[in-house]
Amino acid sequence: MPALWFLFSAATAIAYSILHYTSKRKSASLEFLFSIALIFEGLIAALNLEWLKPVYFPLVISAAVFYGWKTVVPLSFLIIFLRLRALFMNPELFGEEIAFSVSLLLTAVISSVILDRFRKGKYKDYAVLKTIKHADEAVTETDADLIDGPEQLGVSQYFSSMLKTDEEIKEHLLAIKHAVYADSVNFFVQTAPSSPGGFTLRCSTEEKGDIIVTGKGIIAECFKTKKTFYSGEVNKNTSEIGYIKNKKVSSVLVMPVMDGYALTGVLTADSSIYHAFSEPVRNTVRMLAAHFVRIIERERIYPKLARDYNGLKILNEESSKLVSSLNLNVIAEKLCEGAEKIASSNAFLFIASGRQFELIHHTGGMSGDKTGFDLKGTFVNIAVENKQPVYMADMKDYHSSVLPFRTGEIRSIFVIPLVYESRLLGLFVMSSLKTDFLDTFQIELLKVMCNQAATSIANAKLHAEIEKLATTDGLTGLLNHRIFQEKLSEELKKLSRYSETTSLLLADIDFFKKINDKYGHPAGDMVLKEVSKLIKEAIRDIDIPARYGGEEFAVILPRTDSKGAMNIAERLRKAVSSKSFDIGHISHTGPIQATLSIGIATSPLDAKTKEELIEKADQALYHAKHNGRNRSVLWSEIRG
Ligand code: GH3
Ligand code: MG
Ligand code: MG
Repeated sequence: MPALWFLFSAATAIAYSILHYTSKRKSASLEFLFSIALIFEGLIAALNLEWLKPVYFPLVISAAVFYGWKTVVPLSFLIIFLRLRALFMNPELFGEEIAFSVSLLLTAVISSVILDRFRKGKYKDYAVLKTIKHADEAVTETDADLIDGPEQLGVSQYFSSMLKTDEEIKEHLLAIKHAVYADSVNFFVQTAPSSPGGFTLRCSTEEKGDIIVTGKGIIAECFKTKKTFYSGEVNKNTSEIGYIKNKKVSSVLVMPVMDGYALTGVLTADSSIYHAFSEPVRNTVRMLAAHFVRIIERERIYPKLARDYNGLKILNEESSKLVSSLNLNVIAEKLCEGAEKIASSNAFLFIASGRQFELIHHTGGMSGDKTGFDLKGTFVNIAVENKQPVYMADMKDYHSSVLPFRTGEIRSIFVIPLVYESRLLGLFVMSSLKTDFLDTFQIELLKVMCNQAATSIANAKLHAEIEKLATTDGLTGLLNHRIFQEKLSEELKKLSRYSETTSLLLADIDFFKKINDKYGHPAGDMVLKEVSKLIKEAIRDIDIPARYGGEEFAVILPRTDSKGAMNIAERLRKAVSSKSFDIGHISHTGPIQATLSIGIATSPLDAKTKEELIEKADQALYHAKHNGRNRSVLWSEIRG
């Protein structure tokens, strides 16, 4: 009954081809191929076209292109079975049929084995590698962002990187899923180190909610033992795995993802097919799982990296600010500002001057307006004595004084001595209301910054010393001749701007040569120093005294007319003449006396230019000398 035969065959072929092409995992492939063979065999039988028989060979070979040997070999057996009918009809063809069957079987085995290898080598690994390669490219992109766009570093980028990590993990999971024909591939991580055995689903190839974590089971065991688990016949209780899903699970692979000896997470792959993951397949999964470690590691170190980067950036910026100034107060301010950027706190900067410590800048509250302190007996003195930084994370049990003055509450403190070439230049103190306000990284940054500050302070001090040497006279401490000339020019410039008067005193010690001759040069020096002191005492703060040369002194008197200048000159002259200079420790004589002759000129009345003014004052001084010495003379009075 060929009609019935075809109807049946066609129905079978249609049913199986639908099943075969609509099912996700290409199941029913054998049934589908067999139904094709059935139609073909029907054709041969009905039309008696025995010569069409060799067409089975290309059918088997083309099946081998798409399906594995597990499908192709049974198919060839089924075809041989179909041929039995023809054999019964013509028993004399027995030899021919045997030869056909054997060669068909051989063709099926050989073609499927060859094509299987070809497929494995080319398609599977190629697809997997392609995905991994894409993931690698993504990694480099993110790293480049980090260096090129430091402004973007922050919380938002941190979170976007987290999301990116999830994406990458998912890509890897999908690659594994496709490579090993799994139903789902999942990545689990430990909930918290504090809850051993607890785990959550970090990432899955399935939609959210498709995998329901039940806890415990094989996954928990894998977290504990770090051993791979595989079963090809999970039929009893699927919740034993540690999760459940709405599809049947027949094979499951649970594998630890290791970073050296540490466990990063657990990877699972499942399939509805029994014995889905052979050993080579499991090895493939293991190899691919190794890539996770890198992604997770990057995710872990990213926040730290971002923090380190920001910290070093602040350090770099603040340090260059410190170097850019030679002014102690500016350096102090910058140091406190910079430290505050690294860790919010109250900062105090002391500069050592002898045994005392001078508080030159502070951002924290303190009582009193004293600036010089003795640190003995305070907590911060520990750092002074050891010349080593001290960090106290918790000051709860410390009841003595922390700083040499009263401050607000201090819960933790960081004290850094500012040491340059083993000299203690100062002390930097940071205190906080919080306990343990610094971590190791912040401490290191602050140490480096204070090191820089110490160098800057040393430079500032050196600069100040050099400037002092260059501008003052070593014996008397007054401004030297060069600076006197500069200051006088400046004063006269101001004068023309504000239309005020400035006076100049030139004072010369009378018969100073005699003092030298009689008591010796050191005694003369002594007198010069004492006279300098008397000058400083006799004048006002705004006046500028200088050593003009030898035993001559000059005093610039800004905003002073000749009358005012005369008053100051007389005050000074009287102070010197009434002074007894004690030189006993130098030349074993009693106190000696000295007198001054003073010449006064005023600008703009007496003179317009600097040279003129000095000249006029000198003329007045000459007049004083020739009129009996120990007197003050105004140039305006001798004009006639
Ligand atoms: P007159 O009253 O006319 O000013 O007499 P005088 O002796 O003070 O004047 P003169 O210019 O003849 O002498 C100034 C002396 O001051 C000469 C010099 O040896 C001395 N002298 C200059 N500089 C110093 C110094 O730094 N130390 C000492 N001890 N003597 C100095
Ligand atoms: Mg003189
Ligand atoms: Mg003199």
